[in-house]
Amino acid sequence: MTSNQQVASSSLAERVMNERKFKRLSKIALPYALNNDRTKRHVSLILVRNKVISIGTNQLKSHPKAKKIGYRYDEVHSELDALLRCKERQNLELVNFRFNRFGDSRLSRPCSLCCPWCKLIFDKIYYTTPTGFERLAY
Ligand SMILES: [Zn+2]
Repeated sequence: MTSNQQVASSSLAERVMNERKFKRLSKIALPYALNNDRTKRHVSLILVRNKVISIGTNQLKSHPKAKKIGYRYDEVHSELDALLRCKERQNLELVNFRFNRFGDSRLSRPCSLCCPWCKLIFDKIYYTTPTGFERLAY
């Protein structure tokens, strides 16, 4: 790779998810997951221009929006929790994490109730898999 190509790829990398950015975000999300005593530990980060502006976790609490979306038992999913904690509504990027109790990465694709509204609000959505991360196509 020539130095010119390196410059081009690193400036592109700032706007897209890559291994390094993902590792950095994982370190932010993991403590939130391990502090969550629910059996499923979901953490959603909302980013604006690569800056984390909100962090949400799945939790049992009722909220009128959760009821409207149709979550069972009024559980607030991590995506909604993160959104309720931030005022921004422009240029939002969602990065979803799920870990088991050992801190291993698990599938955190937004569920069928979250997907429709998440696709409207977020420009890009990434989620963990047992082996890394994927970008949701839409
Ligand atoms: Zn959901």
